[in-house]
Amino acid sequence: MATITNVEAFQVAWSDDVPAKRSGFVRVTTDAGIQGYGECTPMQGGVHVLGIVANNLAPALVGRDPLDHAVVLDTLFHRFIKLGPEGSLTSAIAALDIALWDIKGKLLGQPVHKLLGGAWRTEIPFYTSLGGNAQRTVDAVVRAVEKRVKRDSPRAVKIRFDGDRTTLDHDIPGDIAKAKAVRKLVGDGFMLGFDANNGYSVGGAIKVGRALEELGYAWFEEPTQHYYVKAMGEVARRLDIVVTAGEQTYTMQGVVDLIDAGVKIIQCDPLKMGGITGLAQCIALAFAHGVEIVPHQTQPTIGHAAHLHLMAIKMHATKPMEWNDPEERDTALMQTIMRAPWPMGNGTFRVPSGPGLGIEIDDDQLNRRIRRVAPQA
Ligand code: CA
Repeated sequence: MATITNVEAFQVAWSDDVPAKRSGFVRVTTDAGIQGYGECTPMQGGVHVLGIVANNLAPALVGRDPLDHAVVLDTLFHRFIKLGPEGSLTSAIAALDIALWDIKGKLLGQPVHKLLGGAWRTEIPFYTSLGGNAQRTVDAVVRAVEKRVKRDSPRAVKIRFDGDRTTLDHDIPGDIAKAKAVRKLVGDGFMLGFDANNGYSVGGAIKVGRALEELGYAWFEEPTQHYYVKAMGEVARRLDIVVTAGEQTYTMQGVVDLIDAGVKIIQCDPLKMGGITGLAQCIALAFAHGVEIVPHQTQPTIGHAAHLHLMAIKMHATKPMEWNDPEERDTALMQTIMRAPWPMGNGTFRVPSGPGLGIEIDDDQLNRRIRRVAPQA
């Protein structure tokens, strides 16, 4: 039906002054005159991932049928597995998978969620994900939450701490004080999440978790270092509050370990593991084990579009989806590359209904921001 003729991997510069503020995109072209777009992890501007795409994966994709994406990408994953199955390789596969699903939808004239079996919902409630709270005072945390609640009317708020990863239990009384102040601000009925960003020992996490239970928080995210799966499980089993994790786990096998340990909501990231195919598999995995999946989200353009289609196709959804919105100005700027971003209002996003990802990339806007970082196939 179609053949891949070109695979580009490039950074998109949102500001030339701040190299860290770059996204990593792929653009796949076919002989059917259709292009698909994908996105990789934004860590370090995606530069390491783009190198793997350009040097290792792109040459093997040219000449292949984009509708064979799962077989082709799984073959490449295993061919290059020694590059590291827990890192850049999985994000490279993810970016390409998203682009090939975009092509598949455009070839067949259907949005991605239709090709995955249809939408349980086309309006997706979201929660505000507010980072950097370890560095704020209690008052500053309250003001930051208040501003975002007023602006976006989210269905829930998560306060992320983003503290120094080399210290544990740095300021437990201060963290609990911030959790209390936010509860007081939003009132008793409002859904809240607390993201420790791996900041506690097991003992520290139990102490904070008990306080969060008293305060009626809905979930406690990554209480311990992600690589201590048993410790994460011990915290999950000893507390009543739901413990969540998974944004730093990049294989299905790793996700199974987290579920077996006791994690009740898994938070796989479609840009870091498997793309749309991988996350659809994680949705099935969560269903099979009676746990929930609420994916991790960081980027308000292509990655968010992929995320919306995935949130549409999962049946159980007791929590809203994540909306990180790095900074107001950045998000508005980043969305200028799309002609049809998702409508947003009243704490919800509408799932795009156009073919593929349904977001219509404006190539004039995109091309002027492209920064090549690796030789192209
Ligand atoms: Ca997190």
